[in-house]
Amino acid sequence: MTEIDRMLEANAEWAQRFPGSRPVQPARKVAVVACMDSRMPLFPLLGLEVGDAHVIRNAGGIITEDVLRSLTISQHLLGTRETVLVHHTDCGMQKTDDRALADTVEQATGHRPPWVGRTFTDLDADVRESMAILRSTPYLLSHEVRGTVYDVTTGELREVHPTS
Ligand SMILES: [Zn+2]
Repeated sequence: MTEIDRMLEANAEWAQRFPGSRPVQPARKVAVVACMDSRMPLFPLLGLEVGDAHVIRNAGGIITEDVLRSLTISQHLLGTRETVLVHHTDCGMQKTDDRALADTVEQATGHRPPWVGRTFTDLDADVRESMAILRSTPYLLSHEVRGTVYDVTTGELREVHPTS
């Protein structure tokens, strides 16, 4: 059985417990931008329920053009007004650098990626940079953004303050 088969089976069980449909607008008017790390179950760790929040994830939880596209839609069309950033300890994006990542891809495939990996070394600095980008993005309706770092060894979330 493949992993996808297991997922399809699990979904049949989920559908039995399905809590019912919810409005498309997130009930708590919040969007989460987070790393794709497999150890961060964002809904339980943030106390969210189905229908509460948008979750936008990528490698590192960094602010890309597509994150800005999604947040713009989240705010203008679907009513969110706060954004929380969730980075985390032991992130894969801290374990390489942009050049090494591109080298790895090129050596394995013969193709150097056209994009930059956007790896980082300082977690808090990357959270602050992400907050600064969102606060200066003129086409968002709300610049209410807070940043956090999740500890994958304890489950604790620590807030990162913009200027500390
Ligand atoms: Zn990560």
